Amino acid sequence: MSELVTSRIRATATTMGLPHLAANLTDHLARAAAAQMGYLDFLDLVLEEEQAVREERRVRHALRVSKMPHHKTIEDYDFSYQPTLDPRKIKDLATVAFAEARANAVFLGPPGVGKTHLAVALAVAACRVGYSVYFTTLDDMVRNLKAADAIGRRAAKIRGYLRPHVLVLDEVGYQPLARDEANLVFQVISKRYEKGSTLLTSNKAFSEWGQVFGDDVLVTAILDRLLHHCEVIAINGPSYRLKNRIAAVEDLDADIAATG
Ligand code: ADP
Ligand code: MG
Repeated sequence: MSELVTSRIRATATTMGLPHLAANLTDHLARAAAAQMGYLDFLDLVLEEEQAVREERRVRHALRVSKMPHHKTIEDYDFSYQPTLDPRKIKDLATVAFAEARANAVFLGPPGVGKTHLAVALAVAACRVGYSVYFTTLDDMVRNLKAADAIGRRAAKIRGYLRPHVLVLDEVGYQPLARDEANLVFQVISKRYEKGSTLLTSNKAFSEWGQVFGDDVLVTAILDRLLHHCEVIAINGPSYRLKNRIAAVEDLDADIAATG
């Protein structure tokens, strides 16, 4: 093919926002020639590749703006380490029907059982199929809302937390909240109700949330919205963070027993 035509295709592809085609035209042509592709197959190849590259770029961007601490998946989670947790429940959630239904999920349990891991894994799955995701700890959200409130921007900041299809609210219950802080959390949860999904993690049972939020009436109102369409996953096993250390201590004990 003449240089003139290839450079014109590159220029047009660039103008049309098809950078992958512009950059890989020669390669595409070589592959088409090698496989003796017909017109239809060639066009199919060009469009499919452009689409795949575009999709990959979208996901990468969406994951970056989601501010998730990592991008672990369900496949990275070892269910055999938490036998009380039903893998089917998690795998059903990972179909991300919850995001379509604007339903919630709450992960409860002590530190290290994988609450954040699983909430992130669901959010990553939702992100891959096109839902927007934002990750925050509860404390960070409260701090940001208070800062915005102090300069008269509370409503705008709250809207920011309503925008993502899936909001991950991590670490509810680590710090008790003051009344005005608890009220800000209530506003976010109640405004997201049936509008978006919230994935929440907490080391405190619901019965202890009264102490966290400092007000039983407010907690009842929060739980009412949160739990109406919600999967509650309680994980009550050992900490995965301590897994290797516990194994090391057991080995040490065995060594001592053997030598002693
Ligand atoms: P939590 O939020 O419940 O405190 P995390 O989700 O932060 O716990 O888990 C702690 C660490 O252990 C993370 O690196 C996580 O990926 C890992 N982890 C926890 N449970 C499992 C598991 N069952 N299989 C694989 N990794 C796990
Ligand atoms: Mg956590």
